[in-house]
Amino acid sequence: MLNDLKKGELIVFAAPSGAGKSSLIKEIISNNENIELSVSATTRSPREGETHGKDYFFITDNEFNDLKKKDAFIESADVHGHQYGTLKSFVEEKLENNISVVLDIDVQGFIQISNSIKEVISIFIIPPSLDELKKRLILRGLDADDVINRRMENAIKELKHAKYFDYIVLNDDFNRAFNDITSIIFDKNYEYNETYNKNILKDLLD
Ligand code: 5GP
Repeated sequence: MLNDLKKGELIVFAAPSGAGKSSLIKEIISNNENIELSVSATTRSPREGETHGKDYFFITDNEFNDLKKKDAFIESADVHGHQYGTLKSFVEEKLENNISVVLDIDVQGFIQISNSIKEVISIFIIPPSLDELKKRLILRGLDADDVINRRMENAIKELKHAKYFDYIVLNDDFNRAFNDITSIIFDKNYEYNETYNKNILKDLLD
């Protein structure tokens, strides 16, 4: 089933930080050679273990602004105080070679893309609760307290946009979320538990 994609497709993933999006994307990609992650440009500094050209293209504000002027981005946004952008050249090259591309972007980026590109599969990952989200952010130990608080405020803003995505996937169990996403991507008629997930989303926003 994992090799059923016939041509390159654009698959957009968004989620609040800590919802498990990156781990799920990693698993999807490592299970399929026809899907790759788009490497974005960003002005934020690399975290420990991150590599230029693999995790991101880490560039300066000036370089970012130059690329923006040259219309080099499919979309770009300011996220948590830094600039991020999806490189047109990167994505086009993959799609032309029949490789599907996963975009791990925020909702501002998704809105720009959905206004300009029709054929997109969009998936929003939700956590089971806001408490669980905060716990995951603390446990992963990547961010200082003030950054975690900023990410939590941002999380609520992001969750409000989840309804605009094609699919809402609950990540309370990694394997189940992985199976849901695999089915969404490879079996377009797959019926997942949409109503249940929408109710969880409603609870998160209440
Ligand atoms: P992080 O700094 O933790 O890697 O990413 C922070 C947020 O920026 C995540 O929600 C991620 O999805 C988003 N992001 C990463 N790359 C891009 C991009 O190219 N465009 C947009 N709009 N958001 C991005």
